[in-house]
Amino acid sequence: MALNMSEAEDKIAEAAKKFALKNARDYGTAQASIVINKIFAEIPDAKKLGFKALKAIVDRVVGEVNSLSKEEIEAEAGKYVFPEKEQREGLPDLPWADAGTSANTRFAPNPSGYLTIGHSKIAILCDEYSKKYPGKFFVRFEDTDPKTKEPKIEAYKAIVDDLEWLGCKIAGIFKQSDRLEIYYKYAKQLLESGKAYVCTCTREEMQRNRKEGISCACRSASAEENLSRWEKMQSVFKEGEAVVRMKTDMQHPNPSVRDWLMLRIIDKSHPLTGNKYRIWPLYNFSVVIDDHDMGINLVIRGKEHEMNSTKQKYLYDALGWEQPHTLDIGILKPSKDISHKSDIKKAIQEGRLTGWDDPRAPTVAGFRKRGILPGAIREYVISSGIGKNDSYLDIKKLEAINRKLRADAGVDAK
Ligand code: GLU
Repeated sequence: MALNMSEAEDKIAEAAKKFALKNARDYGTAQASIVINKIFAEIPDAKKLGFKALKAIVDRVVGEVNSLSKEEIEAEAGKYVFPEKEQREGLPDLPWADAGTSANTRFAPNPSGYLTIGHSKIAILCDEYSKKYPGKFFVRFEDTDPKTKEPKIEAYKAIVDDLEWLGCKIAGIFKQSDRLEIYYKYAKQLLESGKAYVCTCTREEMQRNRKEGISCACRSASAEENLSRWEKMQSVFKEGEAVVRMKTDMQHPNPSVRDWLMLRIIDKSHPLTGNKYRIWPLYNFSVVIDDHDMGINLVIRGKEHEMNSTKQKYLYDALGWEQPHTLDIGILKPSKDISHKSDIKKAIQEGRLTGWDDPRAPTVAGFRKRGILPGAIREYVISSGIGKNDSYLDIKKLEAINRKLRADAGVDAK
């Protein structure tokens, strides 16, 4: 039996509500274009209503959904059943995952500046996989180097704001500077079990030994000696006089893998913890402890970290933990002139940009000011995939996606 006009309209409004809630739940804001496409795909009769009438209904419903709070969207969306896979096209399946897999991911920025478009690629892919295989997406601030990567207080909040604006569903936020006691506990355990050691060689000696594959005397010190040296690292040794090294393989073909550094002394006040701690972990150590502790099973990061898996394997094995799956992906660079966070910092210092959120800056905050929709960034990033090739941002492509989304969503209509 054919539907009469008002029945058809009701049916479309109901379907629009369902798709808009799903879209808003996954991406932060619902977009009319996406809802309209879904309606056409699922309700063949929708065409009969005419595009204008259909769009009017969708615009109204999308407006209503976007005015709800995050909690209300969750609650309303929870009333529907959504076939997960069909909704999340674009990203390849994970070869190791099956239908019941939860992908737990994390995005681990240094809070030393704002998010660039390059960071947003990693964050969006993590968030997407945690939605495709419903799991948790965490944000973890890597702020354990108060000297060379000094954390900026305002960056912690700005990064979370940007991620939320991008529609990332954050399950928890951690700061590594809050977790020093946890790192110390494992460092001591590794020293006790002879899997790590405190090395007091000079920097030059250490470099030479690693290059030539020579084990120093510190490497064979007893557990007692190591623990007593560890205690001295807390207050007696000066910066540069002692470090903790992981025992790997001094003959490893790659010298950087040979007994890599786990922790070192930094005598500089930290903006969050002040002078409470002076022994700070390095990336490969804290990342293993945290990924394990947070139940991360999928690590997505820039491909410059590829060799770190080899280094980290020694620590996973020493602690008897399973190493997570990893995707080392190509970097999305903003442009040839500005390809790094430090280039943006420099441009701000020199007055070429007014700040991180200057609409000309290739940061998430800049794009936001420029009128780029979060959905456009997501679509662009997902279409760029998980391959290993680095790429430059194709601003024309991003703008074209954005124009289409803005037009479909009626953002510019007065
Ligand atoms: N802080 C690291 C980076 O930004 C994180 C790498 C990782 O995800 O393990 O490159």
